Amino acid sequence: MKRCVVAGGGLAGLAAALRLSHSPDISVTLCETTPALGGRARSFVDRQSGLEIDNGQHVLMGCYRATLQYLAEAGESAPALRRLRGLALPFLHSDGRRCSLQAGGLPHPFSLVQAFLRYGMLPFLGRLRILRVALRLRGLGNTELNRLDDISAADWLRSCGQGSEEIEYFWRPVILATMNTEAQLASAKLLAAVLREIFLGAPDAADMLLPETGLSPLLIEPTRRTLESRGVRILTGSAVTGITVHGDHSTTALSGSDTNALSGSDTNALSGTGGHVTGVQCGESVFEADAVVLAVPPWAVTRLLPGFDTGMYTPSEILSIHVWTSRDLGRAPMTGLLGTTLQWVFFKGETASGVYHYSCTISAACGDETADEAALRAMLLRELRLLDGELRDEDLIRILPVREKRATFVPRPGLEAQRPSSRTAVAGLFLAGDWTDTGLPATIEGAIRSGFAAADAVNASGEPMQGSDALPFVSPAS
Ligand SMILES: Cc1cc2nc3c(=O)[nH]c(=O)nc-3n(C[C@H](O)[C@H](O)[C@H](O)COP(=O)(O)OP(=O)(O)OC[C@H]3O[C@@H](n4cnc5c(N)ncnc54)[C@H](O)[C@@H]3O)c2cc1C
Repeated sequence: MKRCVVAGGGLAGLAAALRLSHSPDISVTLCETTPALGGRARSFVDRQSGLEIDNGQHVLMGCYRATLQYLAEAGESAPALRRLRGLALPFLHSDGRRCSLQAGGLPHPFSLVQAFLRYGMLPFLGRLRILRVALRLRGLGNTELNRLDDISAADWLRSCGQGSEEIEYFWRPVILATMNTEAQLASAKLLAAVLREIFLGAPDAADMLLPETGLSPLLIEPTRRTLESRGVRILTGSAVTGITVHGDHSTTALSGSDTNALSGSDTNALSGTGGHVTGVQCGESVFEADAVVLAVPPWAVTRLLPGFDTGMYTPSEILSIHVWTSRDLGRAPMTGLLGTTLQWVFFKGETASGVYHYSCTISAACGDETADEAALRAMLLRELRLLDGELRDEDLIRILPVREKRATFVPRPGLEAQRPSSRTAVAGLFLAGDWTDTGLPATIEGAIRSGFAAADAVNASGEPMQGSDALPFVSPAS
């Protein structure tokens, strides 16, 4: 029986554990630091309203194939997801203009062309210019795609003939929603990869899938139940504090406090010349393991793998603001706002007592938005009046901001080439997480793909990578 420890109970770790748990020859233990599973995609019960509240609104898409597979493997063949076919997104501008991005009745992909041509936030010539990007994407070979990692999405869009209006009113919302950053900070390669998945994929790839329940009942609890039914040991409130690696002559404990153990000949244990994982430390306990899947965020990896530099992963924040109103501001499931601080407003539902719940999103938030409660309230009142001009201050019954400071990483130009694969130079040690080389920005889909990839690598079983492909945790100089 092979013993595998998965460190991290976010979607990457859960996907890895789920796939590994299929195998009767592998015993799986999952360790999660916090008391709850789910990591950056979870929900909690709000004491005041009794409602299940997400740590931030998540949108899935039709192109999230691994995610749908994950849900099916967890026994959710009909998950509680509302599908918005053909985009179906209303947009409101602070100057009062309204339009919608809605695919037409022509066959795919012409239905999407219809959507762009109807996008009334741009003059007709601007809409035509958007199509130039689609044409450029179709013609992109792999070499050209790789070269795009050197430049920003903003520079690439300009090279595709996009003017400032197209960038501000079409591309910026797309980039903020999918990459949680501004166009000048995003890798053009990653943007091109995202656009290809969404717009050049299957006919349903651009559909939005909105969770109809909290994130935990949708994405986490069914997996937990399946894992438990298959005998997986799930330890919450259990941080992995070190990884033990057996080198040629000794066993080395890798942990933040133990960096000195990595000096001299011990570094060889990490450079693919014979080191293999023997277990993990979890506080006072040591779990022996033949394989370890490290599914923690990049900022937690450095503590566990000294010498593995994750400094290039800069966190980017998302601010979600839950708002309860006594007025019905509209029931469009998802509305885009332009020329505003808020970027999206989601209708979450109406309670029996006639209270309406909305969730508002600010991606790439700068931290100032909630500094002053009165200013936050005034901003909400001003911007939600775009949905309903009659909204008054007393209609805002309750406001609950939820700030995720490390929601995602900034997918900068140049980062793609540095994202590690699931296999490492240490036999039996595998990486997973939205930050590994998924080819996607930090997303649910990327996290789940990475978890599946790590599990497949464990199953294919663990010879260390050799030569230039090996991931050096410790640079030769250290
Ligand atoms: C507000 C918000 C909105 C988002 N919106 C979207 C969206 O609309 N669509 C989309 O696709 N994606 C969205 N994302 C991104 C998505 O949630 C993440 O990409 C995904 O959840 C990351 O999963 P992960 O497993 O890679 O990492 P994480 O979820 O961070 O999981 C890592 C886990 O490891 C645990 N851990 C850390 N250190 C240790 C240790 N030493 N030992 C044990 N456990 C440890 C952590 O506690 C955590 O639970 C959003 C994220 C946020 C925060």
